[in-house]
Amino acid sequence: MKKIAVFTSGGDSPGMNACVRAVVRGGIYKGLEVFGIIRGYNGMIQGNIIPLQSHSVSNTIQKGGTILKSARSKDFMTPEGRKKAFENIQKLGIEGIVAIGGDGTFRGAAEFYKEYGIPTVGCPGTIDNDLYGTDYTIGYDTAINTALDAIDKIRDTADSHDRVFFIEVMGRDSGYIAIACGIAGGAEIVMVPETLMDSDEVASILQAGWNRSKTSSIIVVAEGDEEGNAQEVAEKIKTLLPNQFDIRVSTLGHIQRGGSPTARDRILASRLGLAAVDGLLAGYKNVMAGVINDQIVFTPFEDTFQKDKPISQEMIEMVKILSI
Ligand code: ATP
Repeated sequence: MKKIAVFTSGGDSPGMNACVRAVVRGGIYKGLEVFGIIRGYNGMIQGNIIPLQSHSVSNTIQKGGTILKSARSKDFMTPEGRKKAFENIQKLGIEGIVAIGGDGTFRGAAEFYKEYGIPTVGCPGTIDNDLYGTDYTIGYDTAINTALDAIDKIRDTADSHDRVFFIEVMGRDSGYIAIACGIAGGAEIVMVPETLMDSDEVASILQAGWNRSKTSSIIVVAEGDEEGNAQEVAEKIKTLLPNQFDIRVSTLGHIQRGGSPTARDRILASRLGLAAVDGLLAGYKNVMAGVINDQIVFTPFEDTFQKDKPISQEMIEMVKILSI
C-alpha cells in the first residue's frame, strides 16, 4: 500500500483534527502518500481530494471542528453516487481509506467495501459515545465537559432563585452524555432513553425533595428520552405540580459539538489515527479502530452499528443514591 486517503463525515466532533493529523503524520512516517477528502462522502463523489503534507496539519491539534470539513451526503446513499466515488478513488490510485465519523459513516463505508473492496478502517468520531467496539469515541470527553460547565453555571442560578431546571443535552438515542454530565454535575434526576422514567416519577422525586426542604433541582434530560424533550417534560411537571416550583428549561444544543478538544480527546484521537494507519498496513479492512480497556481493538463495521453498547447499570444507580 502506497497511497491512502482520510476524511471526516457526519456530525463534527472535537478531536477530529487531532485524528486527521495522526493519520497524515503516521502515514507519512510509514512512507505513504496521504490524501484528504474534503466534505466527507460528497467530496469523494465530486473528486474533491487533495494531497496532504506534514505541514498541512500543523497547528490543528487544538482546534475543534474539522479542517477537512464534514457533510451528510444523500448521493452516497445511491449506487450511482458510490460508483462515482469509487472512480475518483481509483483515478488517484488510493488503496486504503481512513473514515472518521459515527455509525452512519460506517454504514456507508461497509456498503462501499461490499461493492468495491477498498480497504477502509474507521475511527469513531462522534460526541455521542454510542458506538460498539470502543469504550470512548473522539469528542465525547470534550462534549461532557462543555455540558458540565453549562450545568455548573445554571446551578448557580437555580440555587439563588430556588428554581427547578430541566437541561437538555445531546446524544441522539443514547444517554451517555446525559448520564456522565448528570453525575458529574450532581443532578437530582437524569432522564435517559435506556431507562423508563415517566413524568409521574419525576414529579414524585421532586415532591420528595421539596418535603426535605430542597428548593432547587437540576434534571438532565437526554434529547432522545422516551418521555419527550426537556420542554415537554417540564410542561408535564407544571401540570402535575401546579404553582409549586419555578420551572425553567435550558437546551444546550450545538455548543456541545464545538470547542477545543480536551487532552483526553486529543490523545485518544492521536492514538486511534495511528492505529488506523497501522491497521491498514497490517491488512485490516472494513473495521473500526477503538480502545477497549486501554487496548487498541479492531471491530467489524457491521458490529459497530448493529450491536448495543449499554450504559452501565452502576452509573444509573449512582444518580439515585447520590441525589438523596
Ligand atoms: P454522527 O453520529 O455524528 O451523526 P454519523 O457518521 O452517524 O455521525 P450520518 O449523517 O448518520 O452521520 O452519516 C454520515 C453519512 O454516511 C451520511 O450522510 C451518508 O452519506 C452516509 N451513509 C449513512 N448510512 C449509509 C448507508 N446505509 N449507505 C450508504 N451511505 C450511508
